[in-house]
Amino acid sequence: MAIIPSKIEVEEVSNILLEELNVFHSSIKERLGIDDITYSLEIGTFKVCNGYPEENTLASSVPNSEGTGVEKIIFFSASITDKINRYYSKIYNKQPAFMEAAKILIRFAIIHELVHIKQFKNGLTFEQYKQIDYTENPWEREANEVASEIISETGSFGTEIINVLRENTVISSDNLNYIIGLLDDNENN
Ligand SMILES: [Zn+2]
Repeated sequence: MAIIPSKIEVEEVSNILLEELNVFHSSIKERLGIDDITYSLEIGTFKVCNGYPEENTLASSVPNSEGTGVEKIIFFSASITDKINRYYSKIYNKQPAFMEAAKILIRFAIIHELVHIKQFKNGLTFEQYKQIDYTENPWEREANEVASEIISETGSFGTEIINVLRENTVISSDNLNYIIGLLDDNENN
């Protein structure tokens, strides 16, 4: 069989997002103790900042007018699609492992934003948040740590998929079979 790099389309990503923003989203809200917080959810294509696309932003929490909480979370389907295709296309022939990786990245983005909701519930303000650079921001670090932790609980396939994303490593012919094998392990347990 020919080896064809995997590719997901924006529409498929939007569909997975819609699905995951139901039950999965609720389960994480409950787990983080933010059941009582209300905000709206939106799916956009990519973030625009000063007229330029910010393609690295997968999702954004929009502050309320007082800057004390989140009014709306927007997930950027085109940016998420790019990321999935960039990091996971080498899980070739669009096999189940590729689609699972796509879902994991989307879940990671959802948990990340919900950790921010929790941070604001616990008293963080946007004023404080903005004062620290993104790469050194402790609230960003926490959001990534909690998201990685929760994803890891589902098995080592998830851990590897998130490592690729966070460490900026690549899936290659050397580690591909190992990573796909982890998914099979998950399913057998
Ligand atoms: Zn964040």
